[in-house]
Amino acid sequence: MEPPEPTALERLRFSHTALQQLPVVHEEEDRPVSRTVRRACFSLLRSLQPLPRPELVAVSGPALALLGLTPQQVLRDPRAAEYLSGSRPLPGARPAAHCYSGHQFGLFAGQLGDGAVTYLGEVQTENQRQEIQLKGGGVTPYSRDGDGRKVLRSSVREFLCSEALAALGIPTTRAASIVTSDLRVLRDPLRDGRRVAERCAVVLRVAPSFIRFGSFEIFLQRDEFSGLEGPSAGRYDLRARLLDYVIEHFYPETQRFSDRRQRNAAFFRAVMERTARLVARWQSVGFCHGVLNTDNMSVLGLTLDYGPFAFMDRYDPDFVSNSSDTRGRYSFSSQPSACRWNLARLAEALGSELNPAEAGGVLDDFMPTYEALYLGNMQRKLGLGREEPQDGELIADLLQLMHNTGADFTNTFRLLGLVPWPGQEQSQRGPEADGGAVESVVERILQQCASIEELKVSNQPTMEQRELAMILSMAQSNPAMFSLVAEQPDVSRQLQRMWRLKELMETDEKQLKAKQRDDWAHFVHRYRKRLARERDGSPVEASVVEEERLKMMKKSNPRVVLRNYICHSAVQEAERGDYSEVNKVLHVLEDPFSDSLNGDCGYDRKPPPWAHNLQVT
Ligand code: AMP
Ligand code: MG
Repeated sequence: MEPPEPTALERLRFSHTALQQLPVVHEEEDRPVSRTVRRACFSLLRSLQPLPRPELVAVSGPALALLGLTPQQVLRDPRAAEYLSGSRPLPGARPAAHCYSGHQFGLFAGQLGDGAVTYLGEVQTENQRQEIQLKGGGVTPYSRDGDGRKVLRSSVREFLCSEALAALGIPTTRAASIVTSDLRVLRDPLRDGRRVAERCAVVLRVAPSFIRFGSFEIFLQRDEFSGLEGPSAGRYDLRARLLDYVIEHFYPETQRFSDRRQRNAAFFRAVMERTARLVARWQSVGFCHGVLNTDNMSVLGLTLDYGPFAFMDRYDPDFVSNSSDTRGRYSFSSQPSACRWNLARLAEALGSELNPAEAGGVLDDFMPTYEALYLGNMQRKLGLGREEPQDGELIADLLQLMHNTGADFTNTFRLLGLVPWPGQEQSQRGPEADGGAVESVVERILQQCASIEELKVSNQPTMEQRELAMILSMAQSNPAMFSLVAEQPDVSRQLQRMWRLKELMETDEKQLKAKQRDDWAHFVHRYRKRLARERDGSPVEASVVEEERLKMMKKSNPRVVLRNYICHSAVQEAERGDYSEVNKVLHVLEDPFSDSLNGDCGYDRKPPPWAHNLQVT
């Protein structure tokens, strides 16, 4: 009998450039033993670890396309679930695990590495090469006490959010498929000591490369705070190979410098710029990564490793999505400075490959680069095509107003697109019609604002009570010291919360709504005055400028984002064995800017009351 025709998955063309160009070690055992892996960037694994009864949950068409595959090809393949879970090796794949280190919450952690991820190889298509890996594929030498598995809950979150960010145009690693199985492992989803047997799942991740800042930290010498060293400490010959590999494949434009340190400086600058661009995008859609450790920072400027991430519902600079981040190290407003801190660690890890003065210069340029990109993003969100020096202030005041009124971040920006243009139409339709439209937008924004009870909850100071009481007592005992302390941004925000809470205690719902209405009407008036100046001195017709503004705003303000409650519902259904919600959410998020496409899904609503105290898990 003729052998059956190979399926599209079986025909994938693999290369293994990373394994060929970087130092590797061979594992001796079928089931690798956790250990320190010296002098290697990859451990070659002898085999994959199968999952019992693998079952496809969903595939992402756009991510599969990066591998030259269509959803139909995968869904029709009777062995797809086995291939995509690592239960059956894809022809040509070579399982391996990457060795990296990292600074976690500010401290060097020594060896980390792919503890639950298996590299399979790079898939070559006509016009690109993408690395693929199985997240949740089983133990590796880097698994330490872990089981190398991922559960359905965290896998659905990573799968949906990778694809949601990609559709928003935000650089990210991709997720092509998710497969679950009968195997269960114990996890403590709420971190309250209650362990639950959860179903395992595997995500097929796709990216040009998964090299992280932490990949370069394996060469770090003993760290004086933690007492730990990288597993390949001092092997600068290997560090040079890793750097050459990254530059050759992902930053070829910097190779024009014949001087090595000049080339490296250009590389470091390019990484800085991509990182600034990435975080400026996160800030403009309200995305909070949750764990910005150096091992979760891609050298390609991609969003990497989806754990306790969240899109903010109400704008809050102190928003922390990761419940274990009690000090708010990775709060929403700290993300840019956290990224800068991580870049400084990357520069340290690159050591003598960089000229220290040049590296310092690049780091100094991070904040201004980020600020300029962020401002540009926010101007586009407001439909401002021309730059005015006061735009920064307008945006900061808008965010402050959103914070004060507890306005929904995503929906408020989308609604600002309905603010009528203060142009010719105004006189044609008459000031009353126009005023009516303004009022209706203000009313719709008010519906996106929080109630007094919700605001009381969200304005509770997040600082420890003892610490706050100490600062307040200083106001009496040492006013000079108090004013110094109160100026620190984090303290000042806590005091603002307290004062805000006090104000709320002295008002009622009706007064609050009247104040919110006034404040928003005032802002909308100011915004329209700013819009009017978009046409100053321009011969272009008002309708043309207006159209441009609306186009710009619709492209910059998503109608739907992966809100935590949406993700939570999809996870719950999937845990019950129904994957239709995961697929529906995926489909809607593929087109996040559209008004009408993908149906009236209801995902554009602010969280319903049941979701108010939902934890990110
Ligand atoms: P993360 O918190 O996902 O950034 O991971 C931090 C470190 O823990 C990395 O070295 C991971 O590979 C490792 N890790 C995460 N989950 C597991 C797991 N289930 N088993 C083994 N190692 C893991
Ligand atoms: Mg990680």
